Amino acid sequence: MIEPYNPDTYCWYAFSGYDSNHKWCCCVGLGDLQNFQQLNQSPRIQEIRHHLKNGIKHPDCWRCWHPESIGESSTRTVSLKWIQDTMPQGNYYDPKLRALWLDSGTVCNLSCRTCSAMWSSTHLREAKDRHGSAAGVVYKIQKTDLPYLLEEDFSEIYQIFVIGGEPLLNLDHLNVLEKIVADGHAHHCRITYLTNGTLPIPDRLLKIIPEFKDVNFMVSVDGVGPSFEYTRTKANWNKFVENVQHMRKQITSNNVLFFFNITISVLNVLKLTEIMTWVAEQIGDQSLPIAERVAQIKAMGHMDMTTIVGPSYYTLNVLTSEQKAQVREYLKASPYDMSNVLNALDAENYRYSEIAAQQFWEEVAWTESYHGMSLADYLPELYRILHP
Ligand code: SF4
Ligand code: SF4
Repeated sequence: MIEPYNPDTYCWYAFSGYDSNHKWCCCVGLGDLQNFQQLNQSPRIQEIRHHLKNGIKHPDCWRCWHPESIGESSTRTVSLKWIQDTMPQGNYYDPKLRALWLDSGTVCNLSCRTCSAMWSSTHLREAKDRHGSAAGVVYKIQKTDLPYLLEEDFSEIYQIFVIGGEPLLNLDHLNVLEKIVADGHAHHCRITYLTNGTLPIPDRLLKIIPEFKDVNFMVSVDGVGPSFEYTRTKANWNKFVENVQHMRKQITSNNVLFFFNITISVLNVLKLTEIMTWVAEQIGDQSLPIAERVAQIKAMGHMDMTTIVGPSYYTLNVLTSEQKAQVREYLKASPYDMSNVLNALDAENYRYSEIAAQQFWEEVAWTESYHGMSLADYLPELYRILHP
């Protein structure tokens, strides 16, 4: 008999996922379980699965119910598209590890303004210089949880997101990928690397790439030229551009794609047209006019744009309504579709916060004193709008 399937509550990740950073079945929940096998035994996941299977919205999944309630997609709704490829009809409740967020560790060569000591060792160093050794007590450099991950059953693995830190600096995680290759499961597994694009692809990874179904490199680009160097602190724009070109040349197999991710914050909201133009010059059909090319690569998911919700001092919450009006003017003048960002400017959760605005200037002062980077020099348009 085919079991009932509730698309309004069912979640593929609840039955298929494990996040080795969040120690839970997905990247929007939090747990303390060391691998999928432990997760599978936990009474909490049994209860959640039971709810989702029977059309009940479990409260622990509020991070998905919230965007869904305002008509947006959620991690859960996105996951539904993988059911068909991975589960035979009627077998939607069979728990197996199919999706893994593989935490490569927190070593990172950058200290991007919107990131933190929790994710980057360079940020941790900065936090220690700023707040003293207490920062090192709260956050420690993390490594890949190899002993637990190597015990996993990868026979049905379908997708892996390699996260960091900077994964191309944290190579312990390659032991997991090499095991998947050795066990003969790589041909049904897609890998996505979330990378800052400042480092070459290591030989050890190049060697195993052809074994996988496909491998994607999602490169973060939050600015162009000086705006890139301010937001992606400690990175050099020209070296980044050279390295991205080098990475693309390093690939000889045809199972690799490059994607670009733009994290939208108040720092780059006035730079989006420039960033999108740069991305469209790298990928997409170069015979198309630029605006059509941007629309095409966005529609194909090759350029992803996410508006940050924290840290609050770099969100759109620092903008007063007059400042938002000026940002709106800039966005409306863009040749590209900026409706998502325009909607975000109007959203209730991006309402002006005086505290966040005050903290913004504290961060700006800190960045200038520690990194020698002044907002007026690196982001002059933003400075003009925001400077009191
Ligand atoms: S519904 Fe959302 S929060 Fe719940 S398990 Fe699925 S992805 Fe995670
Ligand atoms: S590259 Fe990634 S991990 Fe490193 S500081 Fe930037 S956002 Fe954080």
